[in-house]
Amino acid sequence: MRLLLVEDDTMIGEAVRDVLRAEHFAVDWVRDGEMADTTLLSETYDLVLLDLGLPRLDGVEVLRRLRARRNATPVLIVTARDAVQDRVAGLDAGADDYVLKPYDLDELLARIRALIRRSQGQADSVRELHGLRLNPITREALRLGADGKTTESIQLSAREWAVLEVLMARPGVVYSRSQLEDKLYGWKDEVSSNAVEVFIHGLRKKLGSTVIETVRGLGYTIPAP
Ligand code: CA
Repeated sequence: MRLLLVEDDTMIGEAVRDVLRAEHFAVDWVRDGEMADTTLLSETYDLVLLDLGLPRLDGVEVLRRLRARRNATPVLIVTARDAVQDRVAGLDAGADDYVLKPYDLDELLARIRALIRRSQGQADSVRELHGLRLNPITREALRLGADGKTTESIQLSAREWAVLEVLMARPGVVYSRSQLEDKLYGWKDEVSSNAVEVFIHGLRKKLGSTVIETVRGLGYTIPAP
């Protein structure tokens, strides 16, 4: 999953970015409102973490422009402005949720997961498909036995997990190699040209060769059940 972090405070930005990366999110970080607006014109994210007090362009204006373009990316406002009218302005401008600074990082992560889940139309965070169960909170991948009760843990690398999470979130949707790269990497990450193929290969060895299908010339998918 790929997140845009909009935060002008260097210390907060670094702390949040590091926590998100530790949770295997790909994170791009911009420090002013103009840059956020420009970035959101060209890039696609699973969620935007948006500070309100920003240089060059206020966070609420960034949000208003995003929604005016009919862009429905989930936006979580993170702000030190605790006046009721500021929160109302943010929600009215199209924010999905807000957190007040200073906040607890675990709560921030829980809200991020909840918003991403909701945007994918899922009430439950655990995903089950083709005899696999994925728990994004514990980061556990399990293979379900034929009786539906016994389970066997599957050890995945962080990137393998990330690929599987993207594919399982939208069964039947075909992702091209570059779309998967976008989900897995931020701007500054080095991407080797066959990275996605390597992760798919690793996943097939661990999950069996039939779970992830190659759609020739288009990309990869996990078929809908
Ligand atoms: Ca700020």
